[in-house]
Amino acid sequence: MQSSTLKIEGALFIITVDPERRIIRDGSILVEGQRITRVGKASELASVPADRVIDAREMVITPGFTNGHMHISYAHATRGIFPDDLGPEYLPNVFKLQAIMTEEEEYYTSLLGITELLKYGTTTFVDPGSTKYLDACMKAYEESGCRIIVGWQVTDRPNPLNVPVYETQEAIERMEETIKSYDHRLDDRVRAWAMPFSAGFASDELLVAAKALADKYQTGMTIHHVIRPESAEASMKQYGKRPTEHLEDLGVLGPNLLLAHALGVNEAELDAIERTQTKVVMNPTAAIKGGSGTTKTGLLPEMVERGIGVGIGTDAGNNSNLVESMRAMYLVAVLYKDGRQDVKMIPAETAVELATISGARSLGLDDQIGSIEAGKKADLVLFDTKRPEWRTIFNPVNNLVYNADGRSVHTVIVDGRVVVEDHKPLFVDEWELIQKVQKIGEDMLARTGVSFPQRWPMV
Ligand SMILES: [Zn+2]
Repeated sequence: MQSSTLKIEGALFIITVDPERRIIRDGSILVEGQRITRVGKASELASVPADRVIDAREMVITPGFTNGHMHISYAHATRGIFPDDLGPEYLPNVFKLQAIMTEEEEYYTSLLGITELLKYGTTTFVDPGSTKYLDACMKAYEESGCRIIVGWQVTDRPNPLNVPVYETQEAIERMEETIKSYDHRLDDRVRAWAMPFSAGFASDELLVAAKALADKYQTGMTIHHVIRPESAEASMKQYGKRPTEHLEDLGVLGPNLLLAHALGVNEAELDAIERTQTKVVMNPTAAIKGGSGTTKTGLLPEMVERGIGVGIGTDAGNNSNLVESMRAMYLVAVLYKDGRQDVKMIPAETAVELATISGARSLGLDDQIGSIEAGKKADLVLFDTKRPEWRTIFNPVNNLVYNADGRSVHTVIVDGRVVVEDHKPLFVDEWELIQKVQKIGEDMLARTGVSFPQRWPMV
């Protein structure tokens, strides 16, 4: 069967993020089936026929964005309930809410989270193992067309967060079962990794076994790593070692491990990360709202400088609240300039790399996604620049990072399939879904009794 062809024609600029970092003015892209087959000047592709042509005049095209840490399955149902001065105590409540979700509730809530991500240009994301009903949620991944990395989140140590605790052997089996059942599903859009919650809540045996599974099945592994700088001190107390040193001693560091957060890791730990080609995802929207000191102790500029495979994520819609890659890009571009009082920190181009090619590398997917090149999967974002925030336009990278946000995303393509068009998701009735999830959230709060007073009277 011949795959159908799609031509995206005459874009104002294509920000390719290819090895030469070319920005093509008046460019066109040809997609055949799931892949990009040609990228070039519109004039070069003018005579190439296609089954469908998208008129991209006045549009800026970027690769789809990656989000390396985004709990997709629960937060959207009870978004914004936590007071902003709550601190880490919100976490036990998160797990309390999550624990009572039904299969149907998790499906709809996941679908709303996915809708938000796709609509604003994030095409690939990591759900760090918090989805309970993967079979039901596979339907949401299939319908929406997103690219997702899933896993089974495990701990084998009692923990104050109410993260479910398993016997070590059962935890290992659950991770393995999940990898075997879900890795490479939906035309390879779904990947499944090993996902122990964190080194603090996992025995050495569990961490070592998780890494062995990632190696055996040639897949990945992610853990929460130094969520706040204080976690480093906890590790010193528990193991007499810095958290990253502890992992290196166990042999858990490596190219297929993605450390999430990594706040307060020191230069010696960066040496270990660099030496072992371990990957990192930093979550600026969550870190700054949680007062985690990312501008003070976050070493993102140093990671970039060392060539570490680092990407950006957001964490969930309930702690970070902001789950847009565009905002995360903006924040990494401005936070370190201000924190270090140095405008040379994280240029706009680096911010774009962190959300595209470098992000893809941190997920082990840079041979498939992260740039607009012939042979890569067609994950593309088309921005409508006929809007005041995009104009005037001379340097599209600066405009993308510093002026624009997700609201100007017009069309989103994942794996060659148009999933958002004219700002609307094509796979769901968005308003109907929102109303459903509002009702789900009300039910969950009533069932758990979780509630927080608001500061202003609601009359
Ligand atoms: Zn997390």
